[in-house]
Amino acid sequence: MTETLSSARELSRALEAMQRQLLEAALRRPRYEVLPLDGTADAVVDHVPREVTVTVTASPRRGMEPTLALSESLARQGYRVVPHLAARLVIDESHLRDMLCRISEAGIRDIFVIAGDGEPAGVFPDSLRLLSALREGQGDGLGQHLEQVGVAGYPEGHPDVSDAQLTRALLAKQPSSTYLVTQLCFSARTVSAWVDRMRAAGVSLPVYPGVAGVVDQRKLLRVAQRIGVGQSVRFLRKHHGLLRLLSPGGYRPDGLVRELASRLAPSADDMAGLHVYTLGAVAATERWRREALEQTLEAVDRHRSRRRRVAPPSRYSALALVRHGVTGQAWPRAWDRHEPRDGYDVVIVGGGVHGLATAYYLATNHGIDNVAVLEKSYIGSGGSGRNTAILRSNYLTAEGVQFYDRSLQLYRRLAEELNFNVMFSRRGHLTLAHSDASLRTMRWRAEVNKLSGVDSEVIDADEVQRLVPYLDTSTAARYPILGALYHPPGGIIRHDAVVWGYARAASAFGVHVHQDTEVTGIDVNDGRVRGVQTTRGPIAAPIVVNATAGWSSLISAMAGVRMPVQTFPLQAAVTEPVRPFLHTVVVSGTLHVYMSQTARGEIVFGASVDPFASYSTRGSLDFLEGLASHVLELMPSLATLRVLRQWAGLCDMTPDFAPIMGRTHVEGFLVDVGWGTYGFKAGPVSGEAMAECIATGRTPELISAFGLHRFAEGELVGEKGAAAVGH
Ligand SMILES: Cc1cc2nc3c(=O)[nH]c(=O)nc-3n(C[C@H](O)[C@H](O)[C@H](O)COP(=O)(O)OP(=O)(O)OC[C@H]3O[C@@H](n4cnc5c(N)ncnc54)[C@H](O)[C@@H]3O)c2cc1C
Repeated sequence: MTETLSSARELSRALEAMQRQLLEAALRRPRYEVLPLDGTADAVVDHVPREVTVTVTASPRRGMEPTLALSESLARQGYRVVPHLAARLVIDESHLRDMLCRISEAGIRDIFVIAGDGEPAGVFPDSLRLLSALREGQGDGLGQHLEQVGVAGYPEGHPDVSDAQLTRALLAKQPSSTYLVTQLCFSARTVSAWVDRMRAAGVSLPVYPGVAGVVDQRKLLRVAQRIGVGQSVRFLRKHHGLLRLLSPGGYRPDGLVRELASRLAPSADDMAGLHVYTLGAVAATERWRREALEQTLEAVDRHRSRRRRVAPPSRYSALALVRHGVTGQAWPRAWDRHEPRDGYDVVIVGGGVHGLATAYYLATNHGIDNVAVLEKSYIGSGGSGRNTAILRSNYLTAEGVQFYDRSLQLYRRLAEELNFNVMFSRRGHLTLAHSDASLRTMRWRAEVNKLSGVDSEVIDADEVQRLVPYLDTSTAARYPILGALYHPPGGIIRHDAVVWGYARAASAFGVHVHQDTEVTGIDVNDGRVRGVQTTRGPIAAPIVVNATAGWSSLISAMAGVRMPVQTFPLQAAVTEPVRPFLHTVVVSGTLHVYMSQTARGEIVFGASVDPFASYSTRGSLDFLEGLASHVLELMPSLATLRVLRQWAGLCDMTPDFAPIMGRTHVEGFLVDVGWGTYGFKAGPVSGEAMAECIATGRTPELISAFGLHRFAEGELVGEKGAAAVGH
């Protein structure tokens, strides 16, 4: 009985997790359906981030031309675009061929085929006829470039066609299509019952449920009545839905989307994504999506931390402090010492934040705990214990911004999650502009940031002065400050506490952390990894992860994998402590310098990497002289402050200043490297994504741009403008 109850509980927990994952994926990368009207391109570019797919409808009145023109224009701007091909607007096969040619030249690989309204303008009376032409013409190259072809589904039926006919038509279209988008719908129950009916009839295409965006209610009701969405509108009117429809600010699909995820969750194909009918309200719909995504991510994190409480590390609390003080009892070891096993499921080389976070998320998010982290020295002895601990997400590319933003979200909750004070301190981050050219780059970055929902703005010199009164903002300065990119969520953290917190929590969940254990070789046989050779003997493992930052090319070479990285020393310095006066992180790319004040009062300075490649970690006088002169340009009042210490760490720089993450051509050998001067802030998100990659065998979307293959394919990420100095 107890066993049955616990497996029922397990099942319900697994289902809940699936629902949340489905919801998160659907909100992260939805499809927005837009109308081909004047102003749509601007509305999309101004408000919609590139991870959203844009589908462009076809207007029976204006023909296919506006659809094609808008699709081409959005594809040029970097969007994944899906033009709707309305069969009744296509004149003949040569018209179809011309359109597909334009679509292919625009780099578009996905079309959505519908019948369209009104009398046929040519030889295709319905979508089935057009799909058949496509299929027959394939040998002849027609539409050969297409990877996806979508067709419509009607959960509430069609005003002019019977349900039986609709099902027969879908079965006939199935061999020529790859997914289904449903007609606008307001009831999750209706959609899920329809999906069940379709599956029973033999339709196995993945389904994208179609929901309305945040749209003016009258317009929505008009559209719903016109397209024959009857039942669910009637249902909504009768019940609470009417209130939702008539609420100020327009209709919001929150409840419907959540219910769809909860009803369709057991199969990812039943809700392959979300198709949002924006009906002209692009900006409002995008605002809603961001809020809904943020709330979902918070719920996912809360849910995961609750799950982790099943076996958390022992608690540090005020009570425990008193108890240990009074009794003199020794504190338990933060992480256990073990003899290495003969083999593990996963071996991670490198005991920095990346290696330890990957081990932690493998154990907690995926239940994989037969994991070893091998560290040649002590944990945190590499970059993770030498960095200047600056956190931010105001990068230059959309891929970078979303990735680092997720890391900041995880960092904000890390102390609570690990029950370890990692001293995260939100300070705000200023990147100074000393020229018109850098102001232009700041504006560009601010726009990219805002599109991904990240708080960044360009501020003028007066505002800079208000935030950091000690900066020399006078026009007499040698490099006058014209303004800055201000990023309020940026801040600092205590780097070694992060390393210790992850190590302690990973160890509590069963991970083995082996210090003083150097990897000296990697065993590869028949193109796949078999294990590692270490100074403490051989260890077998089907999966080996290289998380060694400044040593990454040496470790990868052991597995026969070449890395496009060069290793440079990066130096930093710290002054004696003084009273808190610098509350913001300040970076000047032009002067190659940045500074922040620690909780203890020291001023931490850094700069860009040394000018030559090397594995040396010695400080140099040259660096200190350059640093001091640049710092004093910015803040002359620091002239009497004494420098206490300077040090260096190793940084593996990639050609595009972005990391290299994921699988390699050697099966089972993964890399999480190329972290240059900016990888500490990425520790949590990298650990989370690498753990997912290992556990599921799939590369998570968030890191898909950072694969090693990008260098061979020429698809570089281009982060130099935001990562060269401002770590
Ligand atoms: C001075 C300085 C300032 C920086 N400032 C910032 C900043 O402000 N913000 C930011 O985000 N990033 C910053 N960075 C970059 C950041 O420190 C690194 O990108 C990050 O710490 C890399 O973490 P990691 O876990 O990948 O590697 P590491 O922490 O370097 O860990 C790799 C580990 O691998 C171990 N190892 C190597 N070879 C072997 C072997 N053969 N066998 C076993 N173990 C091995 C090493 O001993 C090391 O401990 C800075 C770096 C430096 C040097």
